[in-house]
Amino acid sequence: MKQHLTENEREVIKLIQFFKKRGERLAEEGSLTQEHQDLNAACERLTEKIYNHADFRQQVLEKHETLKGIIEDHAQCPTCNKMDLLKKVGVVTNEANWKLNRYKCRRCNIEFTWNRPNNPWDMIPFLEVCLQELDNNIGSAEMEDELKTRAQGARDHMSQSLEQLRTAIEAADAEKAGMEEKDKEMARMLHDFKKYLMIEKIKLEPFSEN
Ligand SMILES: [Zn+2]
Repeated sequence: MKQHLTENEREVIKLIQFFKKRGERLAEEGSLTQEHQDLNAACERLTEKIYNHADFRQQVLEKHETLKGIIEDHAQCPTCNKMDLLKKVGVVTNEANWKLNRYKCRRCNIEFTWNRPNNPWDMIPFLEVCLQELDNNIGSAEMEDELKTRAQGARDHMSQSLEQLRTAIEAADAEKAGMEEKDKEMARMLHDFKKYLMIEKIKLEPFSEN
């Protein structure tokens, strides 16, 4: 996965390649200094670091993208109660700041906003509200025992799903925050190293013109 480098990373790799080639030429001429060897070794270590970090960043971002899409909202047209002719036409944000999908039913020729969030982050507070409502119903309604047992079962199932989702999302968010922190560190370090390499390159220029 060498493709997902930042501009900064690409520039450093280019500079590193310049010094690597120069080292190879000096070695052929038998005039490779210890200083240049050390520089090349440092460059090699850094190249590995850059690619490893880029892979890690890519993995975290891909995971994040996958998570964004894990919620299937099973939308149904409010008029015909079917889902077969629905076309997603957009995303809206409601008053709770949740993102919801908007659909058009081509049978009924209407547009509507589905009432469930389209992503796991907003799904967490949504499920919390649902659980609260279920608890209120179970607690207050004069339900038959059998119905009450079923409602309690559904409630427990929902509560379990919520906790699983919460655990997964919290872990993914923590990983992403860690990656972003590392990304910043890496960018700062590369910025400094790039400056250093550019200065070294400028020092060489009067000689390479001869
Ligand atoms: Zn319809």
